[in-house]
Amino acid sequence: MSKDIVIIGNWKMNKTPEEAEAFIGKLNLLYAENKAKILENVKFGIGAPAVDLAPIKKTNEIEGLIIAAQNMHEKESGAFTGELSSKIIKGAGANAVILGHSERRAMFNETSESVAAKARVAIENGLLPIIAFGETLEEYEAKKTKRVVKKMVQESTRGVDLSKVVLAYEPIWAIGTGKTASAKDAQNVCKYVRSITDENVVIQYGGSVKPENIAELMSQPDIDGALVGGASLDATSFIKLLTMNK
Ligand code: PEP
Repeated sequence: MSKDIVIIGNWKMNKTPEEAEAFIGKLNLLYAENKAKILENVKFGIGAPAVDLAPIKKTNEIEGLIIAAQNMHEKESGAFTGELSSKIIKGAGANAVILGHSERRAMFNETSESVAAKARVAIENGLLPIIAFGETLEEYEAKKTKRVVKKMVQESTRGVDLSKVVLAYEPIWAIGTGKTASAKDAQNVCKYVRSITDENVVIQYGGSVKPENIAELMSQPDIDGALVGGASLDATSFIKLLTMNK
């Protein structure tokens, strides 16, 4: 049987609840029209702002849709003004959570240790953590990718059951820049990540994935999916990612 391909759109700080509902309404229709073109091993979902989770769940008609929050707090409850626990996001409709996205690491001081703590709690509460990591342009140019990635992956998955997570390799220089890592380079890093984690772990690539390049990236033996920002914001483009641009 062929491996599962897991494609997750990351909306970042985009779409109001009303816009999220409109997107999912359109996705319901496009999915029904294009279902025959989407391979059975393709699993997919959306990483949305927390206030969009409930509207997405309410509007969705697609069985198995992954509904991911974009962050959570590792504590179950308490005096953490402005934060959301795993139970709160789950109650709002999430069945997954993106953790350690480079934007959160760079702008909100997210550390690999806190990512691991969050991932452990997410799993305990029945959520699928999608754990992101990747090197900066400077590190890439200095040929430090494997060293950096190894540290980030090991620290971000400490004590975490790898059979219950998705790992997302996202070179920072390729996020939102239009520069995609070549399929060969992305494959090399994902293969390396597999070699230092678990043979069966699901590893996504992320960084300027779009309908035009998704098929080549997904055909690599160690790339099991994609985390997609810009190209996931429009339902037509998102469906094209699922059909591999067919
Ligand atoms: C992302 O947000 O994780 C991402 C990879 O963005 P983009 O696809 O726009 O590069």
